[in-house]
Amino acid sequence: MSLARIPQVPECRTSLRLLGATVIDGTGAAPIPDGEVLIEHGRLSYVGPRRPDIATDAVDVDVKGKTVLPGFFDVHVHMGISLESDPRRSQAMFQEELVLQQALAMRATLMAGVTTVRDLGGMTPGFRNAVADGTLAISGAGDMSAMSRIVDTDDQMRVTVRELLRAGADVIKVCTTGGVSSPSDTPYDIGVPEHQVRIAVEETARRQGQPVVAHAQGARGILEAVRGGVSSVEHGYQITPEAIDMMLAQDTYLVPTLSSALRVPDPAKVPPYLYEKKVVWSAIAREHVTVALQAEVKVALGTDAGVCPHGEDLRELGYLVELGLTPMAAIQAGTIEAARLMRVEEQLGSLETGKLADVVITDIDPLTDITKLGDPGNVPVIVQGGRVVKDLHSWMPVAMTLPALAACTGNISFEHAKEDGRLS
Ligand SMILES: [Zn+2]
Repeated sequence: MSLARIPQVPECRTSLRLLGATVIDGTGAAPIPDGEVLIEHGRLSYVGPRRPDIATDAVDVDVKGKTVLPGFFDVHVHMGISLESDPRRSQAMFQEELVLQQALAMRATLMAGVTTVRDLGGMTPGFRNAVADGTLAISGAGDMSAMSRIVDTDDQMRVTVRELLRAGADVIKVCTTGGVSSPSDTPYDIGVPEHQVRIAVEETARRQGQPVVAHAQGARGILEAVRGGVSSVEHGYQITPEAIDMMLAQDTYLVPTLSSALRVPDPAKVPPYLYEKKVVWSAIAREHVTVALQAEVKVALGTDAGVCPHGEDLRELGYLVELGLTPMAAIQAGTIEAARLMRVEEQLGSLETGKLADVVITDIDPLTDITKLGDPGNVPVIVQGGRVVKDLHSWMPVAMTLPALAACTGNISFEHAKEDGRLS
């Protein structure tokens, strides 16, 4: 199998040994009490029960009473969108303001405990490069260089897929239905048909096997997507038993984006059409996705953040449990299963020796109250590629190494620059 691009963050040379915590490794294995997690040169070099007589060069950190988990994934975000903010304000913004806003959305996502994301529309590979060179802090693995393009003929589909791959896309998204958020269509509308989904799959298969995923909400369009061979159905709100059976047979993932599906926004903040569609479709999603989860369709955690607010990604864990997953299965959806969908499971997605050290530490017990992980305040320590990027209560005896953006967020000259820009 060809390799997916591994999200890059700057190299880190600090070595840390986390001692005494309960370790949930993301694979679904039983938690390890009194565990040891050794991080050296950005990677995990030991994960298991605490070893009493081992000397290392690492800085020892006592995290007894806490839980150590893998850094989480959100496989469906739109960093470039904030649906509930005033569209007139966004339209009046300079390009630089929009870019900085996206950077802040990325930062909020990282601070929520999400160390890897897949952007399904709105971002260019420029953000991925900025993360890799340390300007921004979040791993971005996926992107599309164009938010939306209408494809008519089969040849146009081939050309569009080739263009996106050449521009650096890691994933191709097709829309086989209309949507809840769009003003001019509905989830019942059919978009890209099955045979053109298959063309996209054939094109990527000839290259690096980049996943083709489908925005698919109504029953018919979900079937078109699954028959066409997508690797994941995004949303899947009206998923039917027929689609569920095919997905089980083909190992197709469902990314139910419940954070957006179940969220009925404040009617004062969104247009009337959107509010009305949301009320109807959140009930449809609740009913149908529950059936799919019971049938044990493969699930990966994705929120559609941008449609719902950024920086609350791990609330999705609570929604997945509300609709039927066990807390452990929800954690797997947000870690190893998401990594498998993104084809980065050799490097990320669980706490296993040799993998990149993306780690979160919490003092709540996620197996008894997973909804609490949805509050970023309950995810006080985040380590990304071995670097401590969040340490709310100074549990870590090493310095945090924050990327450049962190120095800007509260900075006065940054605010002034914004004001000056508006005046000129
Ligand atoms: Zn989306």
